[in-house]
Amino acid sequence: MPLSRFYILYRSSLLVLDFISSDNLPISSLSTTLLQTVFRMQSQAKGAIDPSTFLNALSVHMTKNSNTDFNINEQQDAAEILETILQEFCSNSVLSEEFLRIRSLNSITCDSCCESSVTEEKHVILQVPAADNIQGSIIDLLKSEAMSGENRYFCSVCDSYQNASIDHCLKASSHYLFIQIKRFVAIDGVAGKDHRKILCNTNLTIPIQVDDDVTIPREYKLIASINHSGSLTNGHYWAIVKSGDFWLRCNDKAVVLAKQEELNDSFGYILVFERI
Ligand SMILES: [Zn+2]
Repeated sequence: MPLSRFYILYRSSLLVLDFISSDNLPISSLSTTLLQTVFRMQSQAKGAIDPSTFLNALSVHMTKNSNTDFNINEQQDAAEILETILQEFCSNSVLSEEFLRIRSLNSITCDSCCESSVTEEKHVILQVPAADNIQGSIIDLLKSEAMSGENRYFCSVCDSYQNASIDHCLKASSHYLFIQIKRFVAIDGVAGKDHRKILCNTNLTIPIQVDDDVTIPREYKLIASINHSGSLTNGHYWAIVKSGDFWLRCNDKAVVLAKQEELNDSFGYILVFERI
């Protein structure tokens, strides 16, 4: 596990710890060992921290959750591990939900009878399509989609397959916003990675629907980017993290100053924003 992944969780971990303490709920060994690791990072002025206690707890947790042996030394998806950790925080603390979860509504409307069916989803990581920039990804995510042809919708009112449209909106914003860029493509039926260069806007506007007709903008600032180089089956992770007025590149044991331009490349995979 690269050290950089701990940096990414540093701020939210401390916040969540406050909530866990105030909630007075029992916490799991995954949360406990992660927070202990963060505290050791905080108290040690220099050098790397041995994360093995947390990694062992993570390995046990992931194996239990997926019913398959989780090997920490194999290539793993950072988004999957991050989601597990964030979900764990949310299950340990009601208050951390407000800081970490975003809610979305998907509304399917039948073209024939105009009846709508609405489902709500909660996310700790918002998955967005790859676009030229992150604001564009949010716009694409919220675009209305048509359901037709093989994709027609079974309308229970019409009792038959009908053309329909799906509309998406975001209903509640979180303090921290974790965005995963879907860099997965199928080329001639083979799964591959989308290496396009994506402009990582340091400021992001998220439209939040507060009423049927009212949408308000929520402003976020970028605080970290988890990057990945390589293919879907192998590669390397590192992170660029905001620290005061500077950006730091956290790459295994090396933590050095980084240029903001490094954010705008073909490696950005998970972006972390904080509400302004
Ligand atoms: Zn219908």
